[in-house]
Amino acid sequence: MNGTKYFITNTCAFDSITEVLSTSCLTVIGFYKYLEERQDETLYYLCYPTTVINYANDGVSSNIIYTRRAHTLENLARNPGNSHLVVNQNNTTINCVSNAAPLFEKLMDRCYSFSVMSVCQCNPQVEVTWNSVIPLPNMSILHEKNYSNLEEEVNNYFSEGYVDCSLCKLPLKHVGYDLTDTRYICIDTESAYVNLSEEGPEIKSTLSQLPEKITVFGKEYILTGAVRVDSAEIRVQQKANQEENYEQSERGVSHYIAYTRSLNNQWTEKNDLLNKIHCAGISNKRMQLALLLYVLAE
Ligand SMILES: [Zn+2]
Repeated sequence: MNGTKYFITNTCAFDSITEVLSTSCLTVIGFYKYLEERQDETLYYLCYPTTVINYANDGVSSNIIYTRRAHTLENLARNPGNSHLVVNQNNTTINCVSNAAPLFEKLMDRCYSFSVMSVCQCNPQVEVTWNSVIPLPNMSILHEKNYSNLEEEVNNYFSEGYVDCSLCKLPLKHVGYDLTDTRYICIDTESAYVNLSEEGPEIKSTLSQLPEKITVFGKEYILTGAVRVDSAEIRVQQKANQEENYEQSERGVSHYIAYTRSLNNQWTEKNDLLNKIHCAGISNKRMQLALLLYVLAE
Protein backbone atom coordinates (compact mmCIF):
# COMPACT_ATOMS: atom_id res chain seq x y z
CA MET A 1 0.00 0.00 0.00
CA ASN A 2 1.45 3.37 -1.01
CA GLY A 3 4.71 1.65 -1.83
CA THR A 4 5.05 -0.01 1.57
CA LYS A 5 4.75 -3.72 2.16
CA TYR A 6 2.66 -4.58 5.21
CA PHE A 7 2.29 -7.74 7.25
CA ILE A 8 -1.26 -8.03 8.46
CA THR A 9 -1.66 -10.54 11.28
CA ASN A 10 -4.54 -12.09 13.22
CA THR A 11 -7.08 -11.21 10.58
CA CYS A 12 -9.48 -14.03 11.41
CA ALA A 13 -12.12 -11.77 13.03
CA PHE A 14 -11.97 -9.38 10.08
CA ASP A 15 -12.00 -12.22 7.54
CA SER A 16 -14.95 -13.88 9.24
CA ILE A 17 -16.98 -10.69 9.31
CA THR A 18 -16.25 -9.85 5.66
CA GLU A 19 -17.12 -13.43 4.64
CA VAL A 20 -20.44 -13.25 6.44
CA LEU A 21 -21.22 -9.76 5.09
CA SER A 22 -20.26 -10.48 1.48
CA THR A 23 -22.09 -13.81 1.40
CA SER A 24 -25.17 -12.14 2.93
CA CYS A 25 -25.07 -9.72 -0.02
CA LEU A 26 -25.36 -12.70 -2.36
CA THR A 27 -28.05 -14.41 -0.32
CA VAL A 28 -30.30 -11.37 0.07
CA ILE A 29 -29.78 -8.96 -2.81
CA GLY A 30 -31.72 -6.25 -0.96
CA PHE A 31 -28.97 -6.19 1.66
CA TYR A 32 -26.37 -5.65 -1.05
CA LYS A 33 -28.43 -2.84 -2.58
CA TYR A 34 -28.78 -1.22 0.82
CA LEU A 35 -25.00 -1.25 1.37
CA GLU A 36 -24.45 -0.04 -2.19
CA GLU A 37 -26.84 2.89 -1.67
CA ARG A 38 -24.79 4.04 1.29
CA GLN A 39 -22.02 4.86 -1.22
CA ASP A 40 -19.43 4.05 1.38
CA GLU A 41 -16.45 2.99 -0.70
CA THR A 42 -14.78 1.14 2.14
CA LEU A 43 -17.82 -0.90 2.86
CA TYR A 44 -18.46 -1.45 -0.83
CA TYR A 45 -15.12 -3.19 -1.26
CA LEU A 46 -15.44 -4.92 2.06
CA CYS A 47 -18.76 -6.48 1.22
CA TYR A 48 -18.29 -6.87 -2.48
CA PRO A 49 -19.26 -10.45 -3.13
CA THR A 50 -15.96 -12.00 -4.10
CA THR A 51 -17.13 -15.55 -4.41
CA VAL A 52 -19.78 -15.75 -7.10
CA ILE A 53 -20.41 -12.45 -8.89
CA ASN A 54 -18.25 -12.08 -11.95
CA TYR A 55 -15.87 -9.24 -11.20
CA ALA A 56 -15.31 -8.67 -14.90
CA ASN A 57 -18.76 -7.05 -15.11
CA ASP A 58 -17.60 -4.13 -13.00
CA GLY A 59 -13.92 -4.32 -13.83
CA VAL A 60 -13.13 -5.01 -10.19
CA SER A 61 -10.45 -7.64 -9.67
CA SER A 62 -9.97 -9.65 -6.52
CA ASN A 63 -6.57 -7.97 -6.15
CA ILE A 64 -8.22 -4.59 -5.90
CA ILE A 65 -10.70 -5.95 -3.38
CA TYR A 66 -7.97 -7.36 -1.14
CA THR A 67 -5.90 -4.19 -1.38
CA ARG A 68 -8.97 -2.16 -0.42
CA ARG A 69 -9.62 -4.49 2.50
CA ALA A 70 -6.03 -3.99 3.64
CA HIS A 71 -6.53 -0.21 3.39
CA THR A 72 -9.66 -0.55 5.52
CA LEU A 73 -7.66 -2.31 8.21
CA GLU A 74 -4.86 0.24 8.02
CA ASN A 75 -7.32 3.12 8.42
CA LEU A 76 -8.97 1.42 11.36
CA ALA A 77 -5.61 0.70 12.99
CA ARG A 78 -4.42 4.29 12.62
CA ASN A 79 -7.61 5.76 14.03
CA PRO A 80 -6.68 6.91 17.55
CA GLY A 81 -10.15 6.09 18.84
CA ASN A 82 -9.68 2.47 17.96
CA SER A 83 -7.72 0.41 20.45
CA HIS A 84 -8.65 -2.87 18.81
CA LEU A 85 -6.16 -2.79 15.98
CA VAL A 86 -2.50 -1.91 16.39
CA VAL A 87 0.22 -0.82 13.99
CA ASN A 88 3.63 -1.81 15.36
CA GLN A 89 6.74 0.36 15.87
CA ASN A 90 8.25 0.09 12.43
CA ASN A 91 4.85 0.71 10.83
CA THR A 92 4.83 -2.41 8.72
CA THR A 93 2.79 -4.84 10.80
CA ILE A 94 -0.87 -4.34 11.49
CA ASN A 95 -2.08 -6.58 14.28
CA CYS A 96 -5.77 -7.15 13.85
CA VAL A 97 -6.47 -9.01 17.08
CA SER A 98 -9.97 -8.00 18.06
CA ASN A 99 -13.16 -9.45 19.38
CA ALA A 100 -15.70 -9.83 16.61
CA ALA A 101 -18.45 -7.57 18.02
CA PRO A 102 -16.44 -4.33 18.47
CA LEU A 103 -14.84 -4.88 15.05
CA PHE A 104 -18.26 -5.35 13.42
CA GLU A 105 -19.47 -2.18 15.16
CA LYS A 106 -16.48 -0.29 13.80
CA LEU A 107 -16.75 -1.60 10.26
CA MET A 108 -20.48 -0.86 10.06
CA ASP A 109 -20.45 2.56 11.74
CA ARG A 110 -21.80 4.25 8.60
CA CYS A 111 -24.33 1.48 8.00
CA TYR A 112 -25.65 1.19 11.51
CA SER A 113 -28.56 -1.06 12.39
CA PHE A 114 -30.62 1.08 14.78
CA SER A 115 -30.45 4.26 16.82
CA VAL A 116 -30.80 4.65 20.56
CA MET A 117 -32.17 7.73 22.28
CA SER A 118 -31.39 7.95 25.97
CA VAL A 119 -31.86 10.32 28.89
CA CYS A 120 -30.11 10.05 32.24
CA GLN A 121 -30.30 11.84 35.61
CA CYS A 122 -26.66 12.88 35.22
CA ASN A 123 -27.23 14.68 31.93
CA PRO A 124 -30.36 16.59 30.90
CA GLN A 125 -29.48 16.33 27.19
CA VAL A 126 -31.09 13.66 25.07
CA GLU A 127 -28.28 11.50 23.76
CA VAL A 128 -28.60 9.68 20.44
CA THR A 129 -26.22 6.90 19.45
CA TRP A 130 -26.14 4.67 16.40
CA ASN A 131 -25.38 1.00 16.86
CA SER A 132 -24.74 -2.07 14.77
CA VAL A 133 -24.65 -4.83 17.36
CA ILE A 134 -26.83 -5.82 20.30
CA PRO A 135 -25.64 -8.08 23.11
CA LEU A 136 -27.43 -11.39 23.56
CA PRO A 137 -30.43 -10.02 25.47
CA ASN A 138 -30.74 -12.77 28.06
CA MET A 139 -28.55 -15.61 29.33
CA SER A 140 -31.46 -18.05 29.42
CA ILE A 141 -31.51 -17.94 25.61
CA LEU A 142 -28.33 -20.00 25.73
CA HIS A 143 -28.53 -21.60 29.11
CA GLU A 144 -31.92 -23.28 29.03
CA LYS A 145 -33.57 -22.46 25.72
CA ASN A 146 -30.91 -23.26 23.10
CA TYR A 147 -31.87 -20.13 21.15
CA SER A 148 -35.56 -21.13 20.87
CA ASN A 149 -36.68 -17.88 22.56
CA LEU A 150 -34.28 -15.64 20.64
CA GLU A 151 -37.01 -13.78 18.71
CA GLU A 152 -39.02 -13.02 21.84
CA GLU A 153 -35.99 -11.83 23.78
CA VAL A 154 -34.69 -9.63 20.93
CA ASN A 155 -38.13 -7.95 20.86
CA ASN A 156 -38.00 -7.58 24.64
CA TYR A 157 -34.55 -6.04 24.39
CA PHE A 158 -35.77 -3.33 22.03
CA SER A 159 -38.96 -2.60 23.96
CA GLU A 160 -37.70 -2.62 27.54
CA GLY A 161 -34.26 -1.13 27.27
CA TYR A 162 -32.80 -1.72 30.71
CA VAL A 163 -29.47 -0.09 30.04
CA ASP A 164 -26.98 1.53 32.39
CA CYS A 165 -25.63 5.02 31.68
CA SER A 166 -22.10 4.93 30.28
CA LEU A 167 -21.15 7.94 32.45
CA CYS A 168 -22.72 7.43 35.90
CA LYS A 169 -23.43 3.68 35.57
CA LEU A 170 -26.97 4.12 36.95
CA PRO A 171 -29.93 2.75 35.01
CA LEU A 172 -31.00 5.24 32.33
CA LYS A 173 -34.18 7.19 32.99
CA HIS A 174 -35.43 6.63 29.47
CA VAL A 175 -34.20 4.55 26.55
CA GLY A 176 -35.90 4.50 23.17
CA TYR A 177 -34.87 2.42 20.16
CA ASP A 178 -35.54 3.42 16.56
CA LEU A 179 -35.69 0.46 14.16
CA THR A 180 -37.44 2.26 11.30
CA ASP A 181 -34.52 1.77 8.91
CA THR A 182 -33.11 -1.41 10.40
CA ARG A 183 -31.78 -3.64 7.62
CA TYR A 184 -30.05 -6.21 9.76
CA ILE A 185 -29.88 -7.48 13.31
CA CYS A 186 -26.45 -8.47 14.53
CA ILE A 187 -26.27 -10.20 17.91
CA ASP A 188 -23.10 -10.45 20.00
CA THR A 189 -23.17 -13.84 21.71
CA GLU A 190 -19.49 -14.05 22.62
CA SER A 191 -19.62 -12.32 26.00
CA ALA A 192 -22.58 -14.47 27.02
CA TYR A 193 -20.52 -17.64 26.42
CA VAL A 194 -17.62 -16.17 28.36
CA ASN A 195 -19.90 -15.29 31.31
CA LEU A 196 -21.51 -18.71 31.28
CA SER A 197 -18.25 -20.61 31.19
CA GLU A 198 -17.08 -18.63 34.24
CA GLU A 199 -20.17 -19.87 36.07
CA GLY A 200 -19.74 -23.53 35.32
CA PRO A 201 -19.45 -26.06 32.54
CA GLU A 202 -18.78 -24.79 29.07
CA ILE A 203 -21.93 -24.43 27.01
CA LYS A 204 -21.91 -25.06 23.30
CA SER A 205 -24.59 -24.70 20.68
CA THR A 206 -25.21 -25.87 17.15
CA LEU A 207 -26.04 -23.82 14.07
CA SER A 208 -29.21 -25.90 13.64
CA GLN A 209 -30.50 -24.51 16.95
CA LEU A 210 -30.50 -20.95 15.61
CA PRO A 211 -33.92 -19.74 14.40
CA GLU A 212 -33.84 -19.46 10.60
CA LYS A 213 -35.78 -16.21 10.80
CA ILE A 214 -36.90 -13.82 13.49
CA THR A 215 -39.61 -11.18 13.37
CA VAL A 216 -38.60 -8.00 15.17
CA PHE A 217 -41.20 -5.23 15.48
CA GLY A 218 -43.20 -6.72 12.63
CA LYS A 219 -40.34 -7.12 10.17
CA GLU A 220 -38.84 -10.45 9.22
CA TYR A 221 -35.08 -11.01 9.31
CA ILE A 222 -33.37 -14.07 7.83
CA LEU A 223 -30.36 -15.80 9.34
CA THR A 224 -27.53 -15.48 6.80
CA GLY A 225 -24.44 -16.09 8.85
CA ALA A 226 -22.71 -16.66 12.16
CA VAL A 227 -19.18 -16.32 13.46
CA ARG A 228 -17.76 -18.99 15.73
CA VAL A 229 -15.09 -18.31 18.32
CA ASP A 230 -12.62 -21.06 19.08
CA SER A 231 -10.00 -20.79 21.77
CA ALA A 232 -8.62 -24.30 21.09
CA GLU A 233 -6.96 -23.07 17.93
CA ILE A 234 -5.04 -20.28 19.65
CA ARG A 235 -1.85 -22.32 19.63
CA VAL A 236 -2.05 -22.86 15.88
CA GLN A 237 -2.43 -19.15 15.39
CA GLN A 238 0.51 -18.34 17.67
CA LYS A 239 2.71 -20.86 15.94
CA ALA A 240 1.91 -19.24 12.62
CA ASN A 241 2.86 -15.90 14.11
CA GLN A 242 6.18 -17.16 15.47
CA GLU A 243 7.09 -18.39 12.07
CA GLU A 244 6.72 -14.85 10.84
CA ASN A 245 8.93 -13.74 13.69
CA TYR A 246 6.17 -11.67 15.15
CA GLU A 247 5.71 -11.08 18.86
CA GLN A 248 2.40 -10.52 20.52
CA SER A 249 0.64 -10.89 23.79
CA GLU A 250 -0.78 -14.35 24.33
CA ARG A 251 -3.82 -13.21 26.21
CA GLY A 252 -7.22 -12.99 24.65
CA VAL A 253 -6.33 -14.33 21.24
CA SER A 254 -9.19 -16.35 19.89
CA HIS A 255 -9.70 -17.80 16.47
CA TYR A 256 -12.83 -16.84 14.54
CA ILE A 257 -14.46 -18.94 11.85
CA ALA A 258 -17.23 -17.81 9.50
CA TYR A 259 -20.38 -19.79 8.76
CA THR A 260 -22.70 -18.67 6.01
CA ARG A 261 -26.22 -19.91 5.46
CA SER A 262 -28.01 -20.15 2.13
CA LEU A 263 -31.78 -19.78 1.80
CA ASN A 264 -32.13 -23.55 1.37
CA ASN A 265 -30.49 -23.90 4.78
CA GLN A 266 -27.06 -25.13 3.64
CA TRP A 267 -24.23 -24.02 5.89
CA THR A 268 -20.70 -23.38 4.65
CA GLU A 269 -17.66 -23.10 6.90
CA LYS A 270 -14.88 -20.67 6.01
CA ASN A 271 -11.83 -21.04 8.21
CA ASP A 272 -8.86 -18.89 7.22
CA LEU A 273 -6.38 -21.14 9.10
CA LEU A 274 -7.35 -24.17 7.08
CA ASN A 275 -8.14 -22.58 3.71
CA LYS A 276 -10.81 -25.21 3.33
CA ILE A 277 -14.53 -25.21 3.03
CA HIS A 278 -16.46 -27.89 4.85
CA CYS A 279 -20.15 -28.51 4.37
CA ALA A 280 -21.22 -31.92 5.66
CA GLY A 281 -22.71 -32.08 9.12
CA ILE A 282 -21.53 -28.70 10.29
CA SER A 283 -24.97 -27.54 11.35
CA ASN A 284 -24.94 -30.12 14.15
CA LYS A 285 -21.40 -29.46 15.29
CA ARG A 286 -21.25 -28.10 18.84
CA MET A 287 -19.46 -24.77 19.05
CA GLN A 288 -19.30 -21.38 20.73
CA LEU A 289 -20.73 -18.58 18.64
CA ALA A 290 -19.55 -14.99 18.70
CA LEU A 291 -21.89 -13.19 16.30
CA LEU A 292 -25.21 -13.93 14.60
CA LEU A 293 -26.34 -11.98 11.55
CA TYR A 294 -29.98 -11.67 10.45
CA VAL A 295 -30.78 -9.51 7.43
CA LEU A 296 -34.11 -7.97 6.45
CA ALA A 297 -36.11 -10.32 4.21
CA GLU A 298 -37.01 -8.97 0.77
ZN1 LIG B 1 -25.81 8.95 33.86
